[in-house]
Amino acid sequence: MQIIDSPQHTRHDPPFEILDGERTPYFEAPRRAAIIAGALAAAGFPAPTAPREFGLGPLLAVHRQDYVEYLERAHGRWVAAGLSPDGVMPCTLPLGGMAGRSTAPTAEAGRYCFDLSAPIVAGTYAAARCAADAALTGAEVLLAGTRAAYALCRPPGHHAMPALAGGYCYLNNAAIAAHHLAAAAQPPDAEVDRRPWAMAPPSVAVLDIDYHHGNGTQAIFYERSDVLFASIHADPDREYPYFLGFADERGAGPGEGYNLNIPLEAGVDDARYLAALEQALEAIAAYSPRYLVVSVGLDTFAEDPLGDFALTSAAYPAIGARIAQLGLPTLFVQEGGYAVEALGNNVVELLRGYES
Ligand SMILES: [Zn+2]
Repeated sequence: MQIIDSPQHTRHDPPFEILDGERTPYFEAPRRAAIIAGALAAAGFPAPTAPREFGLGPLLAVHRQDYVEYLERAHGRWVAAGLSPDGVMPCTLPLGGMAGRSTAPTAEAGRYCFDLSAPIVAGTYAAARCAADAALTGAEVLLAGTRAAYALCRPPGHHAMPALAGGYCYLNNAAIAAHHLAAAAQPPDAEVDRRPWAMAPPSVAVLDIDYHHGNGTQAIFYERSDVLFASIHADPDREYPYFLGFADERGAGPGEGYNLNIPLEAGVDDARYLAALEQALEAIAAYSPRYLVVSVGLDTFAEDPLGDFALTSAAYPAIGARIAQLGLPTLFVQEGGYAVEALGNNVVELLRGYES
């Protein structure tokens, strides 16, 4: 298990978000990553390696160029216009036919962000680029033949759409890595490489086990058949992100049948969750991908302040062990998890379960 981590994430530290209409201290705080890194070190995992720099190319494979350019300039423009350096945040949204052409900083914020939980501060773009590079570095580890890697990405990514930030996410780290793997996975040369996964079709599965639906990852791959997206999450009928994640969203066009959503009720316990995981893993096994990317959210934990599932810490090694049974080279990409005191231990338990 190779660990990829970077201190760059601390540059992204927004002071607040607006959650359910209230100004709230930012849940997705730098302390999360520090606690995970500390727990991995204490548990004897190898020392982390720093991400390589991949440039803009792999980002622009899944995100629109004007959006990435916006992320880079947004905070500077916002502050130069006399607005608060605490963070770029929309207040007027281009909905219901109000598309318009305004280039005002506040209008741009509304055009490129779908909620009030993804403020852009001075260091956001640098941190997001580094998180994407961490996921890409993990993908390269798999391409080099290592069985598993864990990218400690912060900010997380699975809510980020092709041209929208939201839900603490700016660049979709898991999707960027999955596309990179799918693009790199050429038809195997049977004379050279007879490992089972090298014989599989050049395709990738993304398993999203965050409490919230990975709306961004779904949107990015919705019309593609070379990346299967399977997500287990809180029913969007009651929970964020509300507007995507229903069971009847099955993909479109060439992607029809390559999107699997398993929305769950409140109070889900370990046994119920593992049964849902079984369903997702059966779909992935039937797809026979060459690589697996796991969007790892620990906000399924019973004590998470943003979730309503009832998973215990004992669920995570079981989840990891069951994922390992697929026998696929696997990249774990960190997403959510806000019960900070238990977060490090739960990540360790998941990865230990995988390695057991
Ligand atoms: Zn989440």
